[in-house]
Amino acid sequence: MSSLDINPFESAKKKLIIAAKEINLDPNTVNFLSRVEKSLIVSIPIKMDNGSIEIFQGYRVHHSTIRGPAKGGIRYSPEVTLDEIKALAFLMTFKTSLLELPLGGSKGGVCVDIKRLSNAELERLTRRYTAEIINMIGPDIDIPAPDMGTDAQTMAWLMDTYSMQKGRTIPEVVTGKPIEIGGSVGRSGATGTGMFYVLKALCDKMNYNLGSMTAVIQGFGKVGSVIAKKLYDNGIKILGVMESDGGVFSPKGLNIDSLLDWKNQNNRLGDFQGNSTREITNEDLFSTPCDIIVPAAIENQINSSNAADIECKIILEGANSPTTSKADRFLEEKDIIAIPDILANSGGVCVSYFEYVQDINAYFWDLERINNEMRHILLKAFGEVYNLSKERDVSLRTAAYVIAVSRLAKALELRGLFP
Ligand code: NAD
Repeated sequence: MSSLDINPFESAKKKLIIAAKEINLDPNTVNFLSRVEKSLIVSIPIKMDNGSIEIFQGYRVHHSTIRGPAKGGIRYSPEVTLDEIKALAFLMTFKTSLLELPLGGSKGGVCVDIKRLSNAELERLTRRYTAEIINMIGPDIDIPAPDMGTDAQTMAWLMDTYSMQKGRTIPEVVTGKPIEIGGSVGRSGATGTGMFYVLKALCDKMNYNLGSMTAVIQGFGKVGSVIAKKLYDNGIKILGVMESDGGVFSPKGLNIDSLLDWKNQNNRLGDFQGNSTREITNEDLFSTPCDIIVPAAIENQINSSNAADIECKIILEGANSPTTSKADRFLEEKDIIAIPDILANSGGVCVSYFEYVQDINAYFWDLERINNEMRHILLKAFGEVYNLSKERDVSLRTAAYVIAVSRLAKALELRGLFP
């Protein structure tokens, strides 16, 4: 559980309950969606490089397969718990429904500090984890992807292990793979690229001039670094960037190209020398007056203890569940617009879906087609969410959940209950 003692699964369910009230949803549907379909806890024994044996705990959870095979990432982090994975699987169900992808929601994770493991140990961990969850994954069952602490190489090991067990190469078992073995162009930057499309769409509606805005970003990994570069290239002044082991701030704006080079060479942000640059903490970051705050790290970072200090126009949720329900209420009172995670960061699952479709058809698209089709799907979802939020006078988050849950309820009704 997080340091704020917020159970992540209970916190995720609150968003469903708010949306359910808004449309008087059948309590049976709420009850159905308040549980996960299946969860598996596995022990993963690994021979470490020094000959000792360590046992790690891993999870795979299917929240819902009502609308199609489950889809969701794999997280490697020392903070991973079953409740966190259940919450993340739940979010995936609503994200795929919001985008109308023919998929459900799942998530997996291993409780491990990857900084302690060598590359060979990580490979053994990934292969054994894959073997342990093998009956829960598959192209028509559940298709994993990268999340925090995992990357294209992790997905390559997973695909190879699965394929070896099945006796043939099955690229479509996982997305976010390297391009050379069935990955898609545009997947690695898709989440950040999609975030920018949605932010731009909101700014157009609000008549905000993006080029004159300022931003701060928490997280400079696969999501945070891509959105940082997109914002920087579009003239937005990035005042601060924060990672788990420190952050940097400059009132004149950080040079993101130099910061990316520095991070590549040093694997951290601290000691970066830029124009008037100094080091900062997460508290400083979230209390910096600016136009856009981008949480792109972990859950519950915007909460009742810091929401009162937040002074911005827009929160662009790159991370999953970065804002607690209590903080949401504060933000609404202050007219701060949160672009909810299930919309803001959905470019990742959107291009993952394209990767899956390309693998199944053994026919690959170019980057222009990927970005055009992603923009089309994301802007359609944005338009629906924005219009509903105006129609019902609710937040973008509640509107997004109302749309997603309505589709899930319809699918449930059409399928009926077995037996
Ligand atoms: P990553 O492992 O590549 O990067 C995580 C970043 O968060 C790192 O910069 C890390 O230092 C930072 N971080 C971790 N704990 C922190 C803390 N306490 N304070 C400040 N910074 C901290 O992970 P990622 O793939 O970029 O994922 C980031 C978030 O985005 C997660 O919530 C993930 O679920 C979500 N997300 C990722 C994708 C994707 O395609 N990778 C898609 C949708 C959502």
